[in-house]
Amino acid sequence: MSVSQLARAIATSPTMKLNEEARLLRERGEPVIHLGIGEPKNKAPIPAILGAAAKLQTGDIKYSPSDGTPTLKKAIIRYTEENYDRIVAPENVIVSSGAKQSIFNLLYAILNPQDEVIILAPYWVSYPEMVKMVYGVPVIITPEDGTFYPRMAEIERAVTGYTKAIIVNSPNNPSGVIFPDDFIAQIVEFCERKSIYCIMDDIYHKLVFDGRKTPSCFQFTKKDPENTKVIAINGIAKLYGMTGFRIGWTIAPRELVEVLTNIQGQTTSCASVLLQAAAEGALLGIQSIVDNLRLHCQNNRDIVMAELATLPGVKCTKPQGTFYCLPDFRAYLHPAIAKNSNQLADFLLKTARVVTVPGAEFGFEGHLRISYAGGVKDLQEGIARIKWAIDPSSPNDIFIGDKKLLRDWL
Ligand code: PMP
Repeated sequence: MSVSQLARAIATSPTMKLNEEARLLRERGEPVIHLGIGEPKNKAPIPAILGAAAKLQTGDIKYSPSDGTPTLKKAIIRYTEENYDRIVAPENVIVSSGAKQSIFNLLYAILNPQDEVIILAPYWVSYPEMVKMVYGVPVIITPEDGTFYPRMAEIERAVTGYTKAIIVNSPNNPSGVIFPDDFIAQIVEFCERKSIYCIMDDIYHKLVFDGRKTPSCFQFTKKDPENTKVIAINGIAKLYGMTGFRIGWTIAPRELVEVLTNIQGQTTSCASVLLQAAAEGALLGIQSIVDNLRLHCQNNRDIVMAELATLPGVKCTKPQGTFYCLPDFRAYLHPAIAKNSNQLADFLLKTARVVTVPGAEFGFEGHLRISYAGGVKDLQEGIARIKWAIDPSSPNDIFIGDKKLLRDWL
């Protein structure tokens, strides 16, 4: 089939692919445990459902302004004031169909062909692909000390005359770490000084543990909302576990929001008004769901850390937020099991019926991303199955579903 070179170069979203594989296996009756999934299992908050239902009942479901309904934008302005300590105007806000679209449109708006975007590994799988989709060049920085914390000197070394933006995601998908405040301060200061966009992907900024608080990226800039290079991306997907509602937003100088509005106006017109009404309901409704989600994830984080500690040789940096961790499985990369993280994830799915995401997809070979967004039982059983599949010191039989399986490969 004839497709463009660019389209051909774009990789399948590995998480979407894994979801599909897991769905097919489940359909065949296989007892799959999904530790790859990037969404909590909660029901949507009642105020969100009521907001959408009330809108639906009016029967008046039309286009909204391309940049979002005025009432949702008002709720976002309030959220920005409360959570970022920044007062922005409606002209600084644009609503999109998910933070994914917000980021894509932003990259489309700011990059010329061959412009470079600095991405910090481990990174969210979509960043490099999105940069490539607008003919930009992803420049990956991997911390030299083997940790999940890049250093400013490493970033500075990678900057060239073509660098247009740096994407920062903290708390981080896939590692769960929060970058230190002074690191964020340094990046913001550097970007403002060098006139490089600093894209703060804040989608997990409330999913933080142990009483921590993520800083507002705007607190480190002296520039006003019309002159700053700092752009905040956020959304309701992880904040309220409303992944299927597909609402995200961008806070940026109004000149840029105008361009983003043109892009959206010519592509999707606007985000669905029904889903915008749901987002407004969630943002204005009682916020206890955010705390519940946070505590659920924190509790699961503790469980996953305890379970992983029983796997000899697996090292895992303790996540400070999100619902992911990125344990190092290099101790188990050997011929009897797998040569790399892709093969290891495949092996675990085939033998133990557990879905994990290969670290290679996040620019961190030898690791696996494990999501702890789901239930405790799945988490415990999932890691017990992984242990059975790769750890020779564990008993060599296990029940998976109603089948007793014997390990004969170690
Ligand atoms: N950024 C990061 C780091 C994410 O993990 C995700 C979702 N997995 C998104 C953005 C996209 O969010 P949304 O569902 O609102 O498009």
